[in-house]
Amino acid sequence: MQHTGNTVRPIIRIDENSGIPLYGCIAFGLIDRGTNIIQVRPSSSCLLSCIFCSTDAGPKSRWRQVEYIVDLDYLISEIRNLVKYKGGKNIEAHIDTVGDPLTYPHIVELVQKLSEIKGIKVISMQTHGILLTEHLIDELSDSGLSRLNLSIDALDASLAKKLADSRLYNVNYVKEMAEYVAASSNIDLLIAPVWLSPINDSEMPKIISYALAIGAGKRWPPLGIQKYEVHKYGRKPKGVKRLTWYHFYRKLKLWEEKFKVKLKLSPEDFNIIKLPKLPIMFKRFEKVKARTIAPGWLKGQKLAIAKSRVITLVNAGEIPLEHKVTVRLLRVKDNIYIGEAV
Ligand code: SF4
Repeated sequence: MQHTGNTVRPIIRIDENSGIPLYGCIAFGLIDRGTNIIQVRPSSSCLLSCIFCSTDAGPKSRWRQVEYIVDLDYLISEIRNLVKYKGGKNIEAHIDTVGDPLTYPHIVELVQKLSEIKGIKVISMQTHGILLTEHLIDELSDSGLSRLNLSIDALDASLAKKLADSRLYNVNYVKEMAEYVAASSNIDLLIAPVWLSPINDSEMPKIISYALAIGAGKRWPPLGIQKYEVHKYGRKPKGVKRLTWYHFYRKLKLWEEKFKVKLKLSPEDFNIIKLPKLPIMFKRFEKVKARTIAPGWLKGQKLAIAKSRVITLVNAGEIPLEHKVTVRLLRVKDNIYIGEAV
């Protein structure tokens, strides 16, 4: 374990020898939701502390107790097996994470190695962009990154800083990087703002014009506006209205007409198709024998292992590590397992 300068939380390194599988925990590893998209989560850290963050990331996190980083070779060998399992073609590796993927120290090598796996057709990544540099963009482009989903939530510099809740965030710098991606790389750019009504209502049309002006969206849509949603452990900014989906889509339609751009996106826009899904190893409410192996992502949690899967145990603060426990599964969806010791 190591302490990071920015989050002051221990980092847990996950490699083949750690005995920690890459399936089961939302905070690291691989997520297969039964489509051609494999979510790749090499690190959980983030430098920002956005006031709306659904995963409570960054230095100002209230709930996190550790961060994770996955060994590159371990990650690649597991992805290779999963790609084969899913049919070996038309796969999109989507590096998304519960933080910012650019905190992964081997991000260029990761993209490079993903691009060498037969069957991976698209490599995409989600970021808020503060760690981008022109040099890094060149490297990611040369390594085969197909698309960058870049979150820009406001163009107004002071509002943008407030939303990111970090003095490190400078939207003018992120804009420079966005423009470099669009104009000087082979990476397609998708601008993905989170709409927090009414806080950044007036920013949305500006962001749409900006994305179109800089040439975002050559292969895929230029924009992916996301509706702010409340999450159990996510941050809840004061003053945000709960938009209904009806209101959200009605507004998107108005902007679509005004800017002549597609904003209401569907799985077809990203060529998402159904593919075989890894078997779900447990049933909900089933009791299984497991062994605790590491601290869980959030306070009071532990990671336990059973049947080559990670189960996140809640209310497990008092349970020691390397301890045998009987676990009752509370959540089993998409191979993400939450349970409780009984
Ligand atoms: S929203 Fe993204 S960039 Fe912002 S704190 Fe959360 S993980 Fe980090």
